[in-house]
Amino acid sequence: GHTPAPDAPRLTVIGTGYLGATHAACMAYLGYEVLGVDIDERKIAMLSAGELPFFEPGLPELLTKALASGRLRFTTSFAEAGEFGDVHFVCVGTPQTAGSPAADLTYVDAAVAALAPHLRRRALVVGKSTVPVGTASRLTSLLRELAPAGDEVELAWNPEFLREGFAVDDTLTPDRLVFGVASEWARRRLRDAFAPVIAEGVPVKETDLATAELVKVAANAFLATKISYINAMAEICETTGADVRDLADALAYDARIGGRFLQPGLGFGGGCLPKDIRAFAHRAEELGVGRAVAFLHDMDEINHRRRVRAVDLVREIVGGSLQGVRVAAFGAAFKPNSDDIRDAPALAVSRTLHRAGAKVRIFDPAALDNARRAHPELGYGENALDVARDADVVLLLTEWTEFREIDPEVVGGVVTHRRVLDTRHALDPIRWQAAGWEYRALGRPAHV
Ligand code: NAD
Repeated sequence: GHTPAPDAPRLTVIGTGYLGATHAACMAYLGYEVLGVDIDERKIAMLSAGELPFFEPGLPELLTKALASGRLRFTTSFAEAGEFGDVHFVCVGTPQTAGSPAADLTYVDAAVAALAPHLRRRALVVGKSTVPVGTASRLTSLLRELAPAGDEVELAWNPEFLREGFAVDDTLTPDRLVFGVASEWARRRLRDAFAPVIAEGVPVKETDLATAELVKVAANAFLATKISYINAMAEICETTGADVRDLADALAYDARIGGRFLQPGLGFGGGCLPKDIRAFAHRAEELGVGRAVAFLHDMDEINHRRRVRAVDLVREIVGGSLQGVRVAAFGAAFKPNSDDIRDAPALAVSRTLHRAGAKVRIFDPAALDNARRAHPELGYGENALDVARDADVVLLLTEWTEFREIDPEVVGGVVTHRRVLDTRHALDPIRWQAAGWEYRALGRPAHV
């Protein structure tokens, strides 16, 4: 087990969603005393009972152990948090504002405003949420104003890079830690709060607050650009008869380019990349440097066009009209190993097909309940074979291993036509064609 130094700071984690619940459980696992805080009473009750409100491999076990150790507790009380914590991690949501590309900072502001009046002694507040550059500077003033301890309370920024599906590993052994700090004291306190992680050899990059905020959005903008770049090549392939799969594989041999995140497909989605690139472009415009990242608008559009192209291909495959066409949709989550359906490309395609008159039935190994709750108008089934029954066309929309390994012969036995659209290049065309399927994929010629 882990035993932190006797002077280890006591931690609070404010906002216990995907990021916060993971951070809280991992920090307790590393030996810290941790108090998780959320305004959502249901979530706090669930977490206290050892139930995770979302799907994340490995996290339920860690949560159970952390609770049993007595080092992890949850509360809705900010007074308790202010009393308890030496270092407070702010992990609340920063979604896109409805009707605007800007990040909605009301949750971050509310969390800091709720905590600050309870900060009566020296404490460090650490922002982990993804925010527009300049937010930390604004929050520093807010803290000074509202905290009884005044200047004794400092703000730092420690952006989070975890990936859903790999959240535990990414938290315990991240590629790097970024510490945006305004003082030597804050720098040392953050090092104390991550001592066991740093001891594993994880590199630490120390910066000012603005740079730390920017590292996160710059990283996400780069990743979104890399995905959209190869998807732009897919568009070119589609009009020239070239094969983007082979193109991507060939590019990947160049170490300067690299194959990771160079996967052509249905594009990116989820609660981070889409809203983060929009917020970044918007913030740059506010600052008068919109031109510098204007290309992000193109990335967003390239990404959106993949969803449109997938729907057009389904129409083509079924011979023109989607009216009454029975579609088996494999996948709803924005990516495999997640139950997250925020801005999920898979669901966007299913919804468009539904609106065009198709009868869509969806299966997803983890996101089924979330999808059903958000889109009760769509059809659902209990497993892949169930939704494939009597389908006129099968769509692979989220590349779960379970779908990759499915037997085309077995699925072929229940459909009306052996026609499949593989939007994620997850199926083996040779195998599916050998089983008599018409195999189509985004960015690839009709016969591969
Ligand atoms: P989430 O919606 O899952 O969780 C946010 C939590 O904050 C919710 O439980 C909500 O009830 C709580 N909350 C809202 N207002 C609050 C308040 N005033 N006080 C206390 N709690 C409050 O969101 P998430 O996916 O965990 O994302 C959180 C932040 O982390 C975002 O800025 C996101 O961009 C960033 N981030 C997320 C990921 C990821 O993979 N999910 C990765 C890196 C960074």
